[in-house]
Amino acid sequence: MSRLSRAAPFFLSLVAALALADKQSPANIILFIGDGMDEHQITMARNYLYGADGSLFMEQMPLRSSARVQTLREDNPQQFRYVADSANTASTLATGQLTSIGRIATSAATDQDQSTILEAAQKAGLRTGLVSTASLTDATPAAFATHTAHRNCQSPTDMTKAIGYAAATQQCLADQHSRGGKGSIAEQLLTANIDVLLGGGKRYFAQSSKGTDLQKTAASHGYTLLSRRRELLETNPNRKLLGLFSPSHLPVEWIGTDNRRAEPIALNWLGEPHFPEPFSCVENPDHRETPTLKEMTSAALTQLSADNSKGFFLMVEGASIDKQAHRRNPCGEIGELHAFDQAVRAGRQFTKAHPNTLLIVTADHGQAGQIVPLPEYFLGWGDNQYPPGYYAVLKTRTGESMAVSYATNAPPNGQSELHTGVNVPVYLEGTDGANVPQLMDQRQINRLMLDHLGLQLSAD
Ligand SMILES: [Zn+2]
Repeated sequence: MSRLSRAAPFFLSLVAALALADKQSPANIILFIGDGMDEHQITMARNYLYGADGSLFMEQMPLRSSARVQTLREDNPQQFRYVADSANTASTLATGQLTSIGRIATSAATDQDQSTILEAAQKAGLRTGLVSTASLTDATPAAFATHTAHRNCQSPTDMTKAIGYAAATQQCLADQHSRGGKGSIAEQLLTANIDVLLGGGKRYFAQSSKGTDLQKTAASHGYTLLSRRRELLETNPNRKLLGLFSPSHLPVEWIGTDNRRAEPIALNWLGEPHFPEPFSCVENPDHRETPTLKEMTSAALTQLSADNSKGFFLMVEGASIDKQAHRRNPCGEIGELHAFDQAVRAGRQFTKAHPNTLLIVTADHGQAGQIVPLPEYFLGWGDNQYPPGYYAVLKTRTGESMAVSYATNAPPNGQSELHTGVNVPVYLEGTDGANVPQLMDQRQINRLMLDHLGLQLSAD
């Protein structure tokens, strides 16, 4: 008998023991959502940070797929819209069902609550967490644990405001306590028994409901309240955490030199374009006392996994990739994508140490912002050609130049860039891939997560 074949039984029993240990270790889900993070935003960040040959940490994950983004019409749920928002897409990731723009885990037109994976995880005894760089009452975190007709129903005072641009079926009135509803998103979040809530939005939780201060409500539900980065870094992990680190969304990590953003291309009297001068990205001084997304993610993972034999569900959102694209701010976008990727890196390290963890990194919908040719290309044509919209030339970290254009809403009246209808990437780690199709939709991401936890959603 060769040395190898004598050793084989030992290795087989080792593999069996590891497989058993893996099965016995709790099943966890970490879902990362880069808001508005389509392939263009990812490529922009990769080029700026690492050059054309580089790769982000999320791009080094072993499996990848592509997800269709699907949105129903509120006025006719039999038909699709082809551009989504964060509310309906986060709802689909949370519930496995489609709905219409603006809705938070409720059905298009009929306004029925749709059960979420976070709620199913709680019922099964798993711990749960929501982390975001936005206000915690913003659409993406809200969709995993609350149910409202519209994303604007964030706080008690929002419940009586008419939403002029929303359908009659999507006003907050139906969710008011006085009409038998569950109240605002902030109130629902505080009473949802989530173990870790970290993000912004203090002002939405500083209000009263039915005469009770919402932060007192949080304390009565066992939360330790955090408002500073240092408190988060020093906190005892064996507590329910509510961290509110900003009045609304958290400040972004990066800005352009001299606060530069993309700008319209000026023309002289001959109609010749004058392209904006290049600029680079610098740290935003307003972010210094704010926890990074990686710090919040690491704190959440520590709390959720400490002495936990049942597993957890954690959603982490990089919210301002989207919000900075709306503002035509390429450095804001790239800095937030970099911060998101660092949080993914922490998630990957956790997954390697806890192998029964399924890690999924995806986006909710596409965004404006394209990499386009440099000024020299347009000037070379010699007949006054230039891109429409807003334009910026970035000097990248590798010393190259990259031009970015935003052109979904025309200057001067288009105040905000708009979402786009492209597929979004899905990166996965912690599954063998046998059940991962190369093209999926966002409902299947929900299915993959439920299957990993061995859960089903209750039919409401
Ligand atoms: Zn957006």
